[in-house]
Amino acid sequence: MQTSVVELAAGFSLRSRVDRMDYLAGRAIAKAGRVTVVTAEPERVELTVADGDVHTVVLRRDGAALAATCTCSTLPVCRHAVAAEHVLWLQAKR
Ligand SMILES: [Zn+2]
Repeated sequence: MQTSVVELAAGFSLRSRVDRMDYLAGRAIAKAGRVTVVTAEPERVELTVADGDVHTVVLRRDGAALAATCTCSTLPVCRHAVAAEHVLWLQAKR
């Protein structure tokens, strides 16, 4: 069975790819309830993240890894993607 995006989010692979400031900012955005899941499929989850502007984040499975794109275009990974990952992890814990 293929690993779903939600399962990959629990691995915090995005969080490990940003610096501490972006990690803390992303986590704060998630905890503030500013992340909304738009569509959730096993291999692709689209979310909106309100951080001043509203950004659209897409998390998808790329082989065994988690890939993220965001409309803010910060590379390789932005705080919005971290926020999205954090929210999926919180939801999976419930
Ligand atoms: Zn972003």
